[in-house]
Parts: sequence; structure tokens; C-alpha cells
Amino acid sequence: MVGAGIAGLAAAWELRKAGAAVTVLESEPRPGGVIVTERRDGFIVEGGPDGVLAAEPEIPALAAELGIADRIVAQQARGASRWTGTAFEPLEEGGAAQLLGIETRASDLASGFRSFAGGMEELVTALVEGLVGAQHAAPLLQLGQPAAGIGMHGTGWRVAVTGGSALDADALVLALPAYAARPWLEQLGVPHARALADVVYAPSITVSLAYRANQIGRPLEGTGFVGGTPLRACTYASSKFPGRAPDGHVLLRAFLAPAPGEPEQLAHAELSAILGIGGAPLWSRAFSWTRGLPRYRDNHAAGLAAVRGGLARLAPLALAGAGYDGAGVSACVRSGRGAARAVLARWSRPS
Ligand SMILES: Cc1cc2nc3c(=O)[nH]c(=O)nc-3n(C[C@H](O)[C@H](O)[C@H](O)COP(=O)(O)OP(=O)(O)OC[C@H]3O[C@@H](n4cnc5c(N)ncnc54)[C@H](O)[C@@H]3O)c2cc1C
Repeated sequence: MVGAGIAGLAAAWELRKAGAAVTVLESEPRPGGVIVTERRDGFIVEGGPDGVLAAEPEIPALAAELGIADRIVAQQARGASRWTGTAFEPLEEGGAAQLLGIETRASDLASGFRSFAGGMEELVTALVEGLVGAQHAAPLLQLGQPAAGIGMHGTGWRVAVTGGSALDADALVLALPAYAARPWLEQLGVPHARALADVVYAPSITVSLAYRANQIGRPLEGTGFVGGTPLRACTYASSKFPGRAPDGHVLLRAFLAPAPGEPEQLAHAELSAILGIGGAPLWSRAFSWTRGLPRYRDNHAAGLAAVRGGLARLAPLALAGAGYDGAGVSACVRSGRGAARAVLARWSRPS
């Protein structure tokens, strides 16, 4: 496995359940990819995703397998508004997602979102504990170990690791962003691998800001609002899910378009003007994703099918993650588990 984001961890989980010996190479010193939860002074701060659609079955199913189903929390507040520049206007259900360019079905939005009591990273932690606890042989999760390239080796694969070592495997799952996997696939001569260059990852800057509740001059109605530029949107994090801020405090999360200046100061200035905030935040925390959410072109499905078709002539290899089968966390879990099942099917079939 290469990549320990949620797709890679879900794939590793599926492979372990089938009894395969798994090694996951992850370039960063921590697992989870864009799923990051931090705790500070009793607040729970999300750097990436803050929830999944309640209508999607993948996360409850995985949470049940990991024994953390009772940690799932439902969205508390409902409804979002649009800031017109002078006033808030209510948005119909799904309107915020539509304005932000997030692809979801309106029917899926009706049942709201879910998260975990301790934030989204609880899922990552439980997966890692389940995985590491389940395999006692070679270290399963190898952090700070970037894969540098892949090549066929006998009937399987050799993965070069930055620093000079190498790892041999019967089957390989690349749970990497499309821009990271594409050059390797091109080098292997996989037809249509170039199509993956059409998956464009948009930059995303989020700023979480903590305030005392009495600093906020306007009532916070619903889950937040959609704005314009540079403040694209704001989530009232402490209204949306339980336990995100201590009593008497508020946690806001601003989504900014790339703009000059310090994101923390910009977010506070914009929010102060809109929400009538008095005084400075207790603290703020910015996360800057230079390549955040992937967007697909219209012909994505056909291009991807052609790439996957081209993998069939190689040793067992599968692709998983947001760059391929949907950007949401649930879709990434589905994609990871599907990739694991695909290599298992190839592997068990005599050639
Ligand atoms: C700001 C933001 C907010 C979001 N909000 C939501 C939300 O509310 N709900 C929702 O459902 N989705 C949301 N998403 C989308 C969702 O979180 C992601 O699409 C999903 O988590 C991606 O998972 P992944 O495993 O495919 O990729 P990643 O998380 O990108 O994982 C890929 C991993 O591969 C590693 N890697 C890369 N190159 C190498 C290499 N050469 N060798 C080894 N390892 C390597 C990376 O370090 C990384 O850990 C959000 C995304 C962002 C950025």
C-alpha cells in the first residue's frame, strides 16, 4: 500500500480482514492525509473534513467494524444562509453545497451530516489501532517513508523508498492523489494514464477561530453561511456538532479564497464585520491545503475506466482515493475497500 489517507487505511483494513500481510508506506509523519483533528483548550478543531453525509452508509459500517459506532454524533443545527454583503438570506437545503461547488445529491443532504464525538480523526485513530493490533509481524504502518517509484518485479512489484531501500509485494494499492500516481503509471506505459492530469485539486484555506460567546454580536442561526470573496463560507463549528467548544464559547471556521495577507487576520476581520464580533479571537488556527478537494472533468469516468482497464495487464495493482471515485470521505472508504477487493481477486486468480 502506498498512502495512509483514509482511502489507504480503508484498503489496508479490507486486506487485513482477508488475512493479507500488509505494509503501508506514508510520506508524512502522521496517518490520515487531509483528515486532521486538533484539540486546544477544550475545543475540537478540524483542519480538513468535519463530517460525512448521514445518508452514506460507509462510515457507520466501518465504525461498527472498528467498535466505535457509539462515537458517531449527529449534526445539531440545521440550515445555512447566504451573506449578501449587507444581510443574511436563508438558503434552501443543499444550497450551500451548490454555491461552494460540492457535488452531492439533494436527497442525500436532507438527512444532514454526521461526525465523531472527538472529531473526524477518531476514525483514523481507530483504523490505525485496528490495523496495527491485528498484525504482529513486520511493522504495518511505515510513517515518514515516501515511495519514490514503482516497478514490476517478477510476478509482483518492487516499491522504491526515498532514502534507497525497497519493498517487494505481490500486489499494490496506490492510495495517492491522482497527480502523485499519474507519473508512475505513465512510466509503466499504462494507456490513458495522462487522463489523470485532468483531475485538478483546488487550493483550500480554512481558519478556525475561538471566541467567548459574549464576543459575538449577532445570533448564530443554523450551521453557518456562504459568503463571497475572500470569505467563501463560514461554519459555526460549535453549533454544527456537539462538543466542539467549551460552554460559553464559540468555534467558527472560515473558508478563504487565496488572498494576500495573513489568513487568520483576514478571517477575523471579515467575520467581525459580518457577525459583529467584539475584540480579538482567543486564538486562531489556519490550515492551508495547496491541493485540497479534487474536481473532475466531464469525461472523468471514461478516462478512469480506460486507465483501470490498462492495469489488467500488469501485476495486481489498484488505485484508490479522492482523485478517482469521489472526493468525500465516504467515497474514499468505498474506493479503498473496492481497491483491496480488486487486488485480492486478481491475486487469488491463477494466471
Ligand atoms: C479542507 C477540506 C475539507 C473537506 N471537507 C470534507 C467534508 O466535510 N466531508 C467529506 O466527506 N469530505 C471532505 N473533504 C474531502 C476528503 O476529506 C478527502 O477527499 C479525503 O479525505 C481524501 O482521502 P484520500 O485518502 O483519498 O487522500 P489523502 O488524504 O490526500 O491521502 C493520501 C496520502 O498519500 C500520502 N502520499 C502522497 N504521496 C506519497 C508517496 N510518494 N509515498 C507515500 N505516501 C504518499 C499523503 O501524504 C497522504 O497521507 C475535504 C477536503 C478538504 C481538503
